[in-house]
Amino acid sequence: MALEPVRRIVIAGGGTAGWMTAAALSKLLGPACRIELVESEDIGTIGVGEATIPHINEFNQALGIDEDAFVRATQGTFKLGIEFVNWGAVGERFIHGFGRVGQPGDALPFHHFWLRMAALGKASKLEAYSMNTAAPRAGKFMRARPEMAGSPMQDLVHAFHFDAGLYARFLRSHAENMGVVRTEGKIEQVLQREPDGFIEALVMQNGARIEGDFFIDCSGMRGILIEQTLKSGYEDWSHWLPCDRAIAVPCESAGPLLPLTRSTAHAAGWQWRIPLQHRTGNGHVYSSGFMEQDQATGILMDNLDGAALAEPRHLRFQTGRRKRFWNRNCIAVGLSSGFLEPLESTSIHLIQTAISRIASFFPHGGFDPVDIAEYNRQTNVEYEFIRDFLILHYKVTRRDDSEFWRYCSNMAIPDSLQRKIDLFSSSGRIYREQDELFTEMSWLQVMIGQGVMPRAYHPFAQLRPEAEVHAYLNNVEQVIARCVHAMPTQADFIAAHCKAGTNPER
Ligand code: FAD
Repeated sequence: MALEPVRRIVIAGGGTAGWMTAAALSKLLGPACRIELVESEDIGTIGVGEATIPHINEFNQALGIDEDAFVRATQGTFKLGIEFVNWGAVGERFIHGFGRVGQPGDALPFHHFWLRMAALGKASKLEAYSMNTAAPRAGKFMRARPEMAGSPMQDLVHAFHFDAGLYARFLRSHAENMGVVRTEGKIEQVLQREPDGFIEALVMQNGARIEGDFFIDCSGMRGILIEQTLKSGYEDWSHWLPCDRAIAVPCESAGPLLPLTRSTAHAAGWQWRIPLQHRTGNGHVYSSGFMEQDQATGILMDNLDGAALAEPRHLRFQTGRRKRFWNRNCIAVGLSSGFLEPLESTSIHLIQTAISRIASFFPHGGFDPVDIAEYNRQTNVEYEFIRDFLILHYKVTRRDDSEFWRYCSNMAIPDSLQRKIDLFSSSGRIYREQDELFTEMSWLQVMIGQGVMPRAYHPFAQLRPEAEVHAYLNNVEQVIARCVHAMPTQADFIAAHCKAGTNPER
């Protein structure tokens, strides 16, 4: 078995997945490896994928990206959470914020005290007790202040919205500066060697041959290496997540610049709203089994903040995952590896974790099957955890106003998810499993936000005098309200730090 690390890496595709992978690997590997990225301007990228979660900060830091420069270059805005409208029932709304709910320091999770007071009608909405939900409700934003010990200002956790096309361009210039070679053109054929079927080379439309030791398939849903060539298989999850279409359209900005992605549930799916500096991104994710395209388009166009800036684009997808993410000498990253709808903005995060895992399992020329099996196992577990959290939104609803919602609320769900819902419904207990992406705070906010009120709370919460618990909650709420009051609006924050088109040198 060859123990030399692979030296020639070929990345097929230059969307968000391709350029994130190229930028990160070039930084990690330096000049010891040759990285070539192949993309076709004629085919283009999917052009959506504009909302993120906070883990992207780690990616930016690892690459040495200056945050203000990045926001400026991508017409970016900040995001403290996702607002869900009409999910539990029509007319209801809640925010799933990224940060902590309540205060640290108590042996018991804060929400048990909140449940006790809520049952007595003496608590405000849960979102009053977290900086990441109270601030966006008021349109306020600032970055966390780690130096303010003991203040909730420490607790703010942010992610970004950005223009997907500008993000790919930003990463491309970063990667090319690090020595990544870009080849423009269409891949016509993928050559496999005998007898093991490893990929040997990509053959371009102009006849050029691009050889490599290790291939990363970032070709999008086509999966031209991982599926069309290596036939890795696909596990379909659409019985749990029945949306299979999206319509995307940008529109003019209107109203205050809220640091939130908004997800509004409709009769057979939901609509995203992503505010950027220069426009608002919108899309309607829906199930073609329950709604026709014309009706879905009409709903989207009737629910824009301002004038549409382009014709609506229609996209199709199948929710699920590749059966093997790593097959022979090829790993799928991005949409070639699977699809989970953007309800919790997790796809770009999955690209990031795939890159970390590639670094962790970086192969030698022998491509050890034990490594490959473990990589696939870990990726699968990660996908399943996220899948369950997405299904939760559909399952836990009191909506019965359409066939779609009746299907969702009655559908059988994975046992892993049913266990979590049952445990929380009975006693308010939530446990994060292994390296699951979504924390107890996320599960709590979505379950409470969609109307799951536990039948009981932890007995410890009952042991304190009621007046003491009440005062505790009031104090947390008031301190947070005072902090939010002192924060700038997001528009003012961006104007001061990272307005697109401004020159920071001046
Ligand atoms: P693509 O962008 O499709 O790129 C594929 C690349 O492969 C392109 O460069 C293309 O030219 C190249 N290529 C393909 N075939 C060939 C060929 N034969 N020869 C040469 N080159 C080729 N994710 C989030 O994290 N947040 C979101 O808010 C979000 N919203 C989404 C909304 C929708 C409706 C959809 C469908 C996805 C969303 N995603 C979101 C997912 C996100 O868009 C993707 O994860 C991300 O853009 C990565 O895409 P990609 O690079 O894998 O594929």
